[in-house]
Amino acid sequence: SIKVLAGGQSLLPLLALRLTQFDHLVDIAGLSDLDRIDVDAGGTVTVGARVTHLTAERSADLAEANPLIASAMPHVGHRAIRTRGTLAGSIAHADPAAELPAVALATGATMIARSVGGTREIAADDFFEGYLQTALRADELLVAVRFPPWLVGSSGTVVEISRRHGDFAMVGLACLIRIDGSTIADAALAYFGVADTPVRAVEAEQLLIAEPPSAELFEHAATIASAHLEPPADLHASANYRTHTAGVLTRRALAQCALPAGAA
Ligand code: FAD
Repeated sequence: SIKVLAGGQSLLPLLALRLTQFDHLVDIAGLSDLDRIDVDAGGTVTVGARVTHLTAERSADLAEANPLIASAMPHVGHRAIRTRGTLAGSIAHADPAAELPAVALATGATMIARSVGGTREIAADDFFEGYLQTALRADELLVAVRFPPWLVGSSGTVVEISRRHGDFAMVGLACLIRIDGSTIADAALAYFGVADTPVRAVEAEQLLIAEPPSAELFEHAATIASAHLEPPADLHASANYRTHTAGVLTRRALAQCALPAGAA
């Protein structure tokens, strides 16, 4: 068996603990043409497989082109981990408590996979299949992740509750909304730490569309979103705690995105 090694920040702990093993590791450190962040004239962002969290965090172009990614970055582990870990690696690894898979889901990112058979594109909706399971085949390299243009009127934030800053989230939310005129035109609520994959709260999103933003609306959306989640209980938090916290985070994130400071 064969496995890609990117930053090693998830793979090496698994190997060190003997939780997994492979005959060959293929280190992609030498593929310098994948060490790029491209923002095209239309605002589409393409992040190559070698781009580390830290490079993404420090990129002013990326922060301007996609503020939701920028909002996620400080939550991703600690500085030492962000120095080596890669944005694409986090998405390929698909830890359900990780921030970037949820950001990919909320923004409608496209994963670009390449093998000797050619290149194919996988939509975020089809990519996350289960706990550490993705639609990538064993012979495919995730060469880049492409994020669609940030539309005028959009606002996004990543919020989470973890035991210590930099720990994996017990519950988190990547929230993206777009206001057109006086009403909400698009809404994406992608939760992490609440299931085997990141999940969108479709019912709550639909409730928000075509409504003017208000604290009451956001309270209602939070109730609906948390009612539809079925989070697991584990060492870190009970299912009830996660459900409750998801509601709190939903209100907080929506208010941050769409209400004047202090209105919630
Ligand atoms: P690797 O560890 O090299 O690989 C991980 C997996 O993805 C492997 O299966 C590998 O084969 C596969 N893979 C990687 N790149 C590709 C590719 N281009 N194509 C195909 N397959 C690929 N992450 C968070 O999101 N949030 C956190 O809060 C967080 N906290 C952490 C705390 C600690 C103490 C540690 C050690 C890690 C933490 N991480 C966290 C994980 C970190 O973000 C990893 O860097 C990231 O999940 C994986 O990226 P990597 O480049 O290190 O991948």
